[in-house]
Amino acid sequence: MALVFTPKPTPTVEIAGCDDLYPVNRIYCVGMNYYDHVVEFGSDPEEVDPVFFMKPADAIVANHEDVPYPPKTNDFHYEIELVIAMGKRAVNITAEEAEGHIYGYAVGNDLTRRDLQAAMKVLGMPWDTSKGFDKSATITAIHKASDIGHPKEGRIWLSVNGEVKQDSDIKMMIASPNQIVAKLSELYTLEPGDLIYTGTPAGIGPVVKGDLMEAGIDGVDTLVNKVV
Ligand code: MN
Repeated sequence: MALVFTPKPTPTVEIAGCDDLYPVNRIYCVGMNYYDHVVEFGSDPEEVDPVFFMKPADAIVANHEDVPYPPKTNDFHYEIELVIAMGKRAVNITAEEAEGHIYGYAVGNDLTRRDLQAAMKVLGMPWDTSKGFDKSATITAIHKASDIGHPKEGRIWLSVNGEVKQDSDIKMMIASPNQIVAKLSELYTLEPGDLIYTGTPAGIGPVVKGDLMEAGIDGVDTLVNKVV
């Protein structure tokens, strides 16, 4: 039997320090995972559990690649996030076991059509159109945990046209990267190639065509993308 059309190539992400590429399987995302961001959204951090959602693997946009302003929004937002890159299958693992399943880390931007998300929240409906659209997941090269370790703290920041908009520390996460991997592994079979965007701190806001988004996490990398 033959395939009836040629499938698209598997989306990939560069790996720092070598010429190999990381093939992307799924993209998971965590919402409401920084204390200051939960407060910014008008919720009580003690009452909120991090929420999970997904983006398609082909939503990936490389570092320094332009991001097209998406259709059907007038409120296109940045969200700077630490990204976990899985290296081994994980099913029902504990937080203590998580690091043994993680390949590395990157800096990512969970781009969001905030107006569509707000409309779906009011209706209690899924967020898909606000989160899982084309070119909605920018990402730096992946840095192997064997090179940079497993980041537990460090400044996370994002600026637009040189003006700092988000400025926090990854230690302010409500669920740690290891706890996120453990929780997700109870819900899904995590596979090598799965990326996990771990949530954004306070300071979310809009960008328009022509804006330059620069962002970084100390000890990981710097992410630069222009909106066009
Ligand atoms: Mn996010």
